Amino acid sequence: MKPLNIIVCIKPVPDERYWDRLSLDPVTKTLRRAGIPVIINPLDLNAIEEALRIKEARGGKVTVISMGPPNTTDVLAWAYAYGVDNTVLLTDRAFGGADTWATARALASGIRKIGEYDIVMLGHESVDGSTGQVGPQVAESLGIAHVTGVEKVELVDDDTLKVRSKIEFGYMEIEVKVPVTLAVTKDLNEPRVPPVFGALWATEKQTTQWTADDVQVDKEIIGSAGSPTYIPEVANIEVQRKGEVLKGDPAEIARQLVEKLRSDGVLPEV
Ligand SMILES: Cc1cc2nc3c(=O)[nH]c(=O)nc-3n(C[C@H](O)[C@H](O)[C@H](O)COP(=O)(O)OP(=O)(O)OC[C@H]3O[C@@H](n4cnc5c(N)ncnc54)[C@H](O)[C@@H]3O)c2cc1C
Repeated sequence: MKPLNIIVCIKPVPDERYWDRLSLDPVTKTLRRAGIPVIINPLDLNAIEEALRIKEARGGKVTVISMGPPNTTDVLAWAYAYGVDNTVLLTDRAFGGADTWATARALASGIRKIGEYDIVMLGHESVDGSTGQVGPQVAESLGIAHVTGVEKVELVDDDTLKVRSKIEFGYMEIEVKVPVTLAVTKDLNEPRVPPVFGALWATEKQTTQWTADDVQVDKEIIGSAGSPTYIPEVANIEVQRKGEVLKGDPAEIARQLVEKLRSDGVLPEV
């Protein structure tokens, strides 16, 4: 069977353990991320896992691409620890201030420069922006098919994949020809723990860094210049309600709950 070359897009996201340190910049209306440790977006680890499994079954190369500031190389080094073949970072001031559309066009130009690919994998959504738009938009920019909500991938023949895609009340099974982009869910697989020697291998590997000029992309379609999204206002939501845990056996908890609902006027007094 023909080997398959796979490109995995990974987004550096703030480590969830430090989310309490995040704040919004009132002027740019974006997240202040400086000083917050970043990790690989969790669903992108499912994408890496699937890419490695396909490579183990069919041969080919796994290349990881990311767009972000220069220190994203630390996150990409971690991708090497899992056993990917190459990593590429798109980094340039011209990529900054990008909305999802401009992000997708930047990634698509990097993917075109990487060259021959059969599958482009992404997470179904990120844990910070969470729009789920980048996958379909990358496919649109590349002019190839796209499947969202991917929870299973089977290799049918040289050029065909059978993909199970999660939908609201079930799933769809789709046969699709490569090249294709797949946006994956956590149900697809269990990401492996990187082997101990993976960390050593990672320290020896370099990330290729490309600017906007390197990927020959028009600067009008990337970064803030290429972002049609306009954010008029952002606000911190102050949560007034506070949770309360009722303790005791189920009958006691039910009694306390009814009492509270009565005293709050939700239930009528008897
Ligand atoms: C006006 C505006 C300005 C912004 N300015 C900035 C800014 O200056 N700096 C900033 O960091 N963010 C900025 N953002 C946020 C930025 O647009 C999003 O973080 C980015 O487009 C991804 O969106 P998402 O997280 O919703 O992706 P989703 O669509 O939820 O992500 C799905 C998948 O796409 C892939 N993916 C997403 N982003 C990347 C990436 N960068 N590299 C590789 N793969 C990726 C991953 O596989 C991810 O799992 C801005 C947004 C707006 C609207």
